[in-house]
Amino acid sequence: MSQRRKFIKQSILGSAIFLPGVTSAYTATPAERSVAGEKPLILSTWNHGLPANADAWAKLKETGSILDAVEAGVRNTELDLTNLSVGLQGLPDREGITTLDASIMTGDGACGSVAFVRQIKHPITLARAVMEKTPHVMIVGEGARQFAIAEGFPIEEEVLSPEAQKAYDKWKVTSQYKPIINIENHDTIGMIGLDANGKLAGSCTTSGLSYKMHGRVGDSPIIGAGLFVDDEVGAATATGLGESIIRICGSFLIVELMRQGRTPQEACEEAVKRLISKNKNIKDIQAGFLAINKDGETGAYAVHPGFNFAKASTSGNLMVDSKSHFKP
Ligand code: ASP
Repeated sequence: MSQRRKFIKQSILGSAIFLPGVTSAYTATPAERSVAGEKPLILSTWNHGLPANADAWAKLKETGSILDAVEAGVRNTELDLTNLSVGLQGLPDREGITTLDASIMTGDGACGSVAFVRQIKHPITLARAVMEKTPHVMIVGEGARQFAIAEGFPIEEEVLSPEAQKAYDKWKVTSQYKPIINIENHDTIGMIGLDANGKLAGSCTTSGLSYKMHGRVGDSPIIGAGLFVDDEVGAATATGLGESIIRICGSFLIVELMRQGRTPQEACEEAVKRLISKNKNIKDIQAGFLAINKDGETGAYAVHPGFNFAKASTSGNLMVDSKSHFKP
C-alpha cells in the first residue's frame, strides 16, 4: 500500500465521516456480513470512495435517481488532485500522455463508455452522453474527444499535473515498461448503487495503468469487465490490473454467479478464484471486486490484502477493509 494511501486511510478511519442528516453511528460491518435489505446503498472502491459516496448520496437525495447519483459520485474523484489514478491529474502513459477510460450502466441494460480519451475532465459524463445520446455503447480516442466537443464539453489543456509530471520524470530515468500493475499503483473508482425501489446503477472511471503503452485500454470502460449491472440480479465493479479482469469478464461473471444463487460475497470470491486460475504471476497482480444484489446484500474480495471500499447506507458512510485470497 502506498504511503499516500496509508495516510488517507488512517485519517479517514481516524475520523469517520457520516452522511448529512445521519446521526446514528455505523458499526463497521464487514461487507460479507452485510445486512440483507439495506436500501438505498452505495459502494465504491478505495478511500476516495468516501467523499464520492457522500456526493452520490446527496445527489440521490436531490434527484431521486441512482444513475445521477453514481455519475455525481465519481465526478468527485475525477477532480481529486491527490488521486493519480483517476481524471486528468492521473499518471500518464509511457509517452507522457494521460488517457482516460470510463463506463456507466443502469439495471435495464442501458450503458455507455469511453476509452483512450484525452483532455476531458469528466469522462464519466461523456460515457453517460454516449449512453443517452448515441446508438452506441463505446466510443474511443479521438472519436470520443470529437463527440465531447460536439456535445459542448470543455477541452482541457494537455499538461500533466505537477505531481504526475514529477512521477513521470522519475519513471523516465529507467523507463522500465512493466505491463503489470501491483498493489502500489492503481486506484480506479468503481461505484455501484441501489435505490430504495430496487433500481441499480454503476459507474467506473480511471486513468488506467500508469506508464501503459499508448492506446492501452483496461477493464474499466469495458461493460462486463470493470462494471456490470442488472436490475433482475445485482451489480458488480472491479479495480486492479485490467488485463486480469478482462480475461475473466469479472463483473459480468459476478452478476451471473449471483443470478445462479450465489451471495454477493460468494460471487466475488469465486471471481477472484477464477482470476487467479487464469493469470500467471499472480503475486504481482492485484484485483478487487465489489458486488450488491437487488436485496441490498453486499460482497467484496481481492487477490491480495490492501483492498478497501466505502459503504454508504442510511446508517452512515464508512470504510470497510475487504478480505483477500492471499492473507496478510
Ligand atoms: N482497472 C484499472 C485498469 O486496469 C486500473 C485500476 O484499477 O486502477 O486500467
